[in-house]
Amino acid sequence: MEREKKNWPLSDGSELVKIKEVLESNSWWRGSGTKVKEFEKKFADYHNVSYALGVSNGTHALEVALKVFDIGMGDEVIVPAFTFIATATAVLNCNATPVFCDVDADTFCMDPQSFKEAITCNTKAVIPVHMAGNLCDMEQISRIAKERDIKVIEDAAHAQGGEWNNKKIGYYSDIATFSFQNRKVMTCGEGGAIITNSKRLYEKLYLLHSVGRPEGDIIYKHLVLGSNDRMSEFHAAILLCQLEKLQYYNSIREKNVLKLNEFLADIKGIIPQKSSEKCTANTHYMYMFYYDKEAFGNMSKEVFIEQMNNSGVSCYVPYPLVFQADFFENEVKKGDSRFLGDFEERHYPNALKIVKEVVWIPHYELLCRESELYKIREIILDIQKRANSERNVL
Ligand SMILES: *Cc1c(COP(=O)(O)O)cnc(C)c1O
Repeated sequence: MEREKKNWPLSDGSELVKIKEVLESNSWWRGSGTKVKEFEKKFADYHNVSYALGVSNGTHALEVALKVFDIGMGDEVIVPAFTFIATATAVLNCNATPVFCDVDADTFCMDPQSFKEAITCNTKAVIPVHMAGNLCDMEQISRIAKERDIKVIEDAAHAQGGEWNNKKIGYYSDIATFSFQNRKVMTCGEGGAIITNSKRLYEKLYLLHSVGRPEGDIIYKHLVLGSNDRMSEFHAAILLCQLEKLQYYNSIREKNVLKLNEFLADIKGIIPQKSSEKCTANTHYMYMFYYDKEAFGNMSKEVFIEQMNNSGVSCYVPYPLVFQADFFENEVKKGDSRFLGDFEERHYPNALKIVKEVVWIPHYELLCRESELYKIREIILDIQKRANSERNVL
């Protein structure tokens, strides 16, 4: 059984037209151009929020979002133990301490109860991550946070256009951040955005991302200590086109994920990530599922992944536990106060289970016709049949 792997990112030619407009103008940066501003307006409108700020990438978006609340040395920020490393390194790069909490074993999203238990008198913020496009329980998380004056920053790197209870990203939080890195559901290669409903926060975010300078400054005013995290006009040109197509791609994936769930439902040893009931728009950045090797003749997850890739379905291992990244151990040894958290994997049983047992297929493999989707079922069944018969021979 063979299938052709799908390409990502996709361009329909509109990107080239817009890039050319920038190229032929003499405004390649936001200081004199119009594209970043236009993108910010459209991205904010799309999410029904007052303000959006384009930035250089999703990691910087998180860092600027933390800095806007003056989070620094001695402050704690609660992050899930299962996420992409940037959620935690952003905290460390602000000299604050990441404190980990567990995620839900079915939805893979921050467990509100575990978040609550991780709160101390030093907790300044929480960063729920909408894992693979399934939204965290933003009502519970924001309620717990508000009671204790903890800021909520949504890491929506996977969830452009996502909704909880019919409310788009940004509704339940102080700030939400996005990534437009090459693999994300809308992309310009490298890019990011921050959204908020607060004018005060927006104005400070702007200063922070532009070396402290207010918009239009030509006399070297640096009102706050900032860095340069600005988005270029070229990136915004591409994003304007990508935003136009986002809703279309999101809806195809939502439809195809339901279909793929059906196609895989009777296969032993495959259990997909659950979509939360109140997640009314799941962007499905990744199709994640538990792989039970016992149903596959004890074939390791790594071999399964290799065989999927060889058959034309891109397939990967999940993120490791954040605090098991190589650099963490070295830093812990140095005794840096930012690394004095709880790094016992058994204290995060659900995150650990996901790290050990889950594999995932990227979103673009789902942008296809039903017959191509059905091939994913056939390929998995084929791998399973071979794995089980090989074991019987041994
Ligand atoms: C991609 C990603 C980021 C970082 O975005 P970059 O644009 O690559 O810096 C942050 N958080 C999560 C969950 C991500 O997947």
